[in-house]
Amino acid sequence: MIPPVFEYFRPKTLPEAFNLLNQYGEDAKILSGGQSLIPMMKFRLARPSYVVDINRIAGLSYIKEEGEYLKIGGLTRESEIEHSPLIRSKFPLLLDTAAVIADPQVRNMATVGGNLAHGDPANDHPATMLALGAQIVATSKAGERVIPIENFFVSLLSTALQPGEILTEIRIPIPPAGSGGAYFKLERKVGDFATAAVAVQVTLDANGVCQKAGIGLTNVGVTAVKAAKAEAFLRGKKLDEATIRQAGQLAADEAEPSSDLRGPAEYKKGLVKELTQRALLRALERARK
Ligand SMILES: Cc1cc2nc3c(=O)[nH]c(=O)nc-3n(C[C@H](O)[C@H](O)[C@H](O)COP(=O)(O)OP(=O)(O)OC[C@H]3O[C@@H](n4cnc5c(N)ncnc54)[C@H](O)[C@@H]3O)c2cc1C
Repeated sequence: MIPPVFEYFRPKTLPEAFNLLNQYGEDAKILSGGQSLIPMMKFRLARPSYVVDINRIAGLSYIKEEGEYLKIGGLTRESEIEHSPLIRSKFPLLLDTAAVIADPQVRNMATVGGNLAHGDPANDHPATMLALGAQIVATSKAGERVIPIENFFVSLLSTALQPGEILTEIRIPIPPAGSGGAYFKLERKVGDFATAAVAVQVTLDANGVCQKAGIGLTNVGVTAVKAAKAEAFLRGKKLDEATIRQAGQLAADEAEPSSDLRGPAEYKKGLVKELTQRALLRALERARK
């Protein structure tokens, strides 16, 4: 299918992009990897009159540790996450997540910024960023604004980003020693969006007691879901079999899936329970290493 007519801009600097976004307001859309925007335009689900392609703006693609944060540029491709030695060695939850997004062709184009900015609860990074307690840096002509991830997803395909703002960076607190994470996703076939998926990040103290837990759920609500009750339940406990089982149940209780072609809602809740337990076991194993 061919998208409706639009005017295309390819700014080379952020100020140039901000001018265009301010000039055209809600009639303009930012283009990053185009892996969600272009299909939506082809299906007439999005009809921007102006497309502002930010791919030529230098300095928006990086993965680096700086101070207390891992910093990921908004335009960083999924394939760069997948092949980064830093991510591979220190951020297994991010690696797990990028590796199950779509297929290699999509991952070569799709960006982490686009994945979050799209606000799709079926995308994989939102739940992972909730588990990691990330911050989103939104930049506009007025400067930078830092948005805690738990305030970022507003409703279906809607985020806290305002017209004129570009998601320029994702900041992830560097987990202390004794931390581990994992992402478990069930999909109908390789490359598909999740029927349900669970991201888990835990930090243990020297006695194996859970100091901090982050749990995010994919595609079981109008936004990615932060399983706050399960997180709170885990804090201060040793992660034994009974505790992990109970956390799985609490996470399932917090999921609000709807029945669709991927299965009935009750089945998806059952999946969340099981995937939470599996992700917790893997995260625990990694935290102990
Ligand atoms: C066949 C297929 C399978 C897929 N499977 C999965 C999957 O399993 N899991 C998954 O997570 N995703 C999946 N995706 C989606 C893919 O990961 C998308 O590319 C991603 O969600 C959006 O990233 P993008 O860079 O392509 O963004 P674009 O498509 O360019 O943009 C998406 C939206 O975000 C906005 N936007 C983009 N970048 C910015 C920015 N920096 N600042 C502000 N707004 C911005 C755009 O205006 C647009 O509204 C799939 C896509 C395809 C085509």
